[in-house]
Amino acid sequence: MKCTVCKQPAVVRLPSHHARFCAEHFDVFFMRRVEKAIKRYKLLKKGERVLVAVSGGKDSLVVTDVLHRLGYDVCGLHIDLGISANQFSAESLEVCREFFSKRNIPLEVYNLKEKFGKTIEDVGERIGRFCSTCGMTKRYVMNAVAHQKKVDALATGHNLDDLSAALFANLLRWEMRYLSKGTPHLPAEGNFCRKIKPLVLLFENEIHFYAKLHNIRVVTASCPHSKKAKFKRYKELLNSIEQKSPGTKRFFYEKYSQIAHIFKAENEAKISLRPCSICNMPTSTEICAFCKTWKI
Ligand code: SF4
Ligand code: ZN
Ligand code: ZN
Repeated sequence: MKCTVCKQPAVVRLPSHHARFCAEHFDVFFMRRVEKAIKRYKLLKKGERVLVAVSGGKDSLVVTDVLHRLGYDVCGLHIDLGISANQFSAESLEVCREFFSKRNIPLEVYNLKEKFGKTIEDVGERIGRFCSTCGMTKRYVMNAVAHQKKVDALATGHNLDDLSAALFANLLRWEMRYLSKGTPHLPAEGNFCRKIKPLVLLFENEIHFYAKLHNIRVVTASCPHSKKAKFKRYKELLNSIEQKSPGTKRFFYEKYSQIAHIFKAENEAKISLRPCSICNMPTSTEICAFCKTWKI
């Protein structure tokens, strides 16, 4: 197997691009895909300040690494969820600290137990739902910290596999609210910071290979609640389609990103928002879900 560019031995094969690369040309390919996403979806301008939400997993650490290499003014945010099983939160924090200190990039750690006296385990147990409560909490905290730091954008490590699986799941249930928000670029609106997904043009295996190539240590412990994530089923379904018809996932998501404004208009017409009576963030109820969960 030879590299499509230099004809030296290749180390990776990318069927959906009909290409094979040596380590050097894979790196060039990867950086170009991120630059292309930034340009195509107008995610960032040169020199802008960007906060990256990092879990300790490969996606968020890789997106931080690439944006840093591309010269953006990057800082990180890690939310300590307080999940003790499998040493999940402890290992995630350790991996993030190591990554950021090696690159001399500032990292803010937001510890839920220290702020509110309870962890995701405590509130998930009480409510009976872990992942949806955790997702809502992370979204709120990421936005609040981005707002407080006055950064230009908040970046997450969502990749093409995540985004196409989420799109598939939301289409099956016609979840208009989520369909209006699955785009690679959500502009700033009121108290909501601009949200960007620079890895939108990259697959999970490509990100995994980049992490390996650059010796990025990622968290190995798994969250005890991840087995319950329904999301995995949709990823597996799409993977089997992609295997038979390479390029399907990319086409599916890219077409959606061109017409997503249809869902936005539909969603806006139905939801009227007002400020939360505790934190002032926009919500459809008197007290927002975050304040209900963590503050009362
Ligand atoms: Fe949170 Fe669920 Fe992910 Fe665990 S698996 S970190 S509870 S979203
Ligand atoms: Zn090469
Ligand atoms: Zn609130």
